[in-house]
Amino acid sequence: MDPRSIPHPGTRFLLFPQLPSLKDQGTPEVVWVSTPAGSVGQGPSDERMYVIDPVGKEMPYGYYQRAGRPFHYKPPWDGPIRPPAMPDPDGHFDHLHFGTPQFEQAHAYGSIRFTLDVWEEYFGHPIDWHFAQHYDRLEILFLRGLDNAFAGFGSVEIGSYEHEGGTHVNFGLSFDVLSHEVGHLIIYKEVGMPDTNDIHGEYFGFHESAADMVSLVTLMHFQSPMSDLLKESRGNLYTFNHLNRFAEVSEMEQLRIASNNLTLFDFKDGWTYEHDLAQPLTGAMFDIWVDVFHEHLVEDGLISMELEELSDRVENDPDYSKIIQPLFDEAFAQDPDGFATALADSRDFMGLALAGTWTRLSSAHLDYADVAQAMLETDREVTGGRFARIISLNMKRRGIGEISAGPRLKPPDEKSHAFSARAVVAENQDHGTPGHQCSHLPFSTRMALKRLVE
Ligand SMILES: [Zn+2]
Repeated sequence: MDPRSIPHPGTRFLLFPQLPSLKDQGTPEVVWVSTPAGSVGQGPSDERMYVIDPVGKEMPYGYYQRAGRPFHYKPPWDGPIRPPAMPDPDGHFDHLHFGTPQFEQAHAYGSIRFTLDVWEEYFGHPIDWHFAQHYDRLEILFLRGLDNAFAGFGSVEIGSYEHEGGTHVNFGLSFDVLSHEVGHLIIYKEVGMPDTNDIHGEYFGFHESAADMVSLVTLMHFQSPMSDLLKESRGNLYTFNHLNRFAEVSEMEQLRIASNNLTLFDFKDGWTYEHDLAQPLTGAMFDIWVDVFHEHLVEDGLISMELEELSDRVENDPDYSKIIQPLFDEAFAQDPDGFATALADSRDFMGLALAGTWTRLSSAHLDYADVAQAMLETDREVTGGRFARIISLNMKRRGIGEISAGPRLKPPDEKSHAFSARAVVAENQDHGTPGHQCSHLPFSTRMALKRLVE
């Protein structure tokens, strides 16, 4: 069905679920965001956020030294800008042409707004900005040539990537990058920011993991990634997290990363990059999702309990795929829509469970064991504890609750994330709230870029 024909009070955008490239441009999907048609202004802009495309901006916002004194370069940008994206006569933005700056401006707004919509639904309330006392709206801006993307205090700054081979990637077209940045903004607001650098390293890993989960869960609200995933696996998502973990079962980078097999034991002697430290937690979350999905399949009568048990029993068998996959192929062929419903239900359980988990956490003394505990409490509230065993088992498998990550081995460098030298936490004179920037690319995007130029 053409999504344009669905009656909806919101505004339409064209979004690429996966980063388009020269080789494979992919197909954008029509996506509705909640902002009523006609109320999204040029930019695009609304009461929560606005997009601008500055001309002549040379440095990202942040903390600098000027004449030996610290200098805070901060929003809003008041210099010249490129012509903004304009709505069509009905107030929509899906008429813009791919390849123009205006398409990218609309894509950035649409991705960020859509992610926020999805998570406000899971939280059950509007998610304010953590900088709301200082800025009314989020400034979303482009800094072409900046090999990065930052979620900062009051802004999301979007760069582009130029590979030696000449491959050019605009992060304004990367749903993953933009959605991941919204993930950081959500955590800043809902979990909070520690007011010191002297905190447990797992907080940093948690931040990255949460941002990746925000992106992954939101991605599963698009049509094509959902149906591609089911078509590729015929509903056997175990292929991602068991023996075949490294099999090329999906083109989706987010899934490739989430289905890693690192545990906290791999970091017992310490860690360097928070993106790496994030992997055990993200992997645990992914495995929980897969198990919850299969529980739904059994409950809905789409696969038998025997198949689920058989799958568990032969998980280390080299013939796992040969034994299990034909059974899934058959079950999926009988009711693909039922599988899609089960996948959407398990996605929504994850969304609710993550939102509930994050609401229960506070930033001051946060480690992965706290995340596991908060998720168990949330599950008790949401399902009466139905998935307690699944959550406990998958967390334990990742060493969570068993061991803690060792110390940070090197001070954060340019590539690092929050609290790095370029993104110093500083007291904001006006309202006493520390602000900091995140400077990095999601791991999945770095992998995608690597693949793009290979
Ligand atoms: Zn990040």
